[in-house]
Amino acid sequence: MTEPNKIIIAIDGYSSTGKSTLAKHLAKEIGYVYVDTGAMYRAVAYHAMNQGFIKDNALNKQALISDLSNINLRFEYNTALGYAEIFLNDENVEGFIRSIEVSNKVSQVASISEVREKLVEQQQKMSLNKGIVMDGRDIGTVVFPDAELKLFMTASAEKRAHRRFKEMTDNGVDISYESVLENVTSRDHLDTTRADSPLVKAGDAIEIDNSDMTVDQTYAEAMKYVNKKIGEV
Ligand code: C5P
Repeated sequence: MTEPNKIIIAIDGYSSTGKSTLAKHLAKEIGYVYVDTGAMYRAVAYHAMNQGFIKDNALNKQALISDLSNINLRFEYNTALGYAEIFLNDENVEGFIRSIEVSNKVSQVASISEVREKLVEQQQKMSLNKGIVMDGRDIGTVVFPDAELKLFMTASAEKRAHRRFKEMTDNGVDISYESVLENVTSRDHLDTTRADSPLVKAGDAIEIDNSDMTVDQTYAEAMKYVNKKIGEV
């Protein structure tokens, strides 16, 4: 049953704007469930690559669409990490879905309407009790158009690429800044121009440009809106 004082917080925005870091932190602070919808699209892209549906940059859409019923995604909370990890057909794929290879393919996979329909349906079912922070590209526009609080995250492409580059190199990934920037800008392009559910700021979303903000400042700014909204319901 929906608790009266619980809300849905929808966080959308460009890649590498710190959406998931923010969403995770907010959810932990206020005791909400955090759902990373990007992980779901990434897991489908990872599956498509493993099944051989993506070869030499070409995606066999029909093969993926026909195989969608064989894709089972679920999240399982990891107490040690403090957030839920994604499982693809009962395999924990957290360690595989954030590679540059998956990042380079995911937006193509996410442009397929049949993929979106399946994932959006699953995402909408997760909100039955409210008390949820969900991040993605279409949360405030398509998944939860009635969400009580919508945040839209943005930052310059260069700042975002620098952040992602640092994160990857800190994790021992051998990659150039230029290829990270190229990935960020090409995903921006694909995500904002696709026909189905393009990335767009909802009319009632609050925009946060964190180009010149730290992670803590971004959190503090968002928390102001969260407290205000929770106080109103
Ligand atoms: O959030 P993240 O960067 O992990 O998302 C990976 C990709 O998944 C995005 O670039 C976008 O193409 C797709 N996506 C989407 N809709 C969502 C979440 C992610 O299309 N709700």
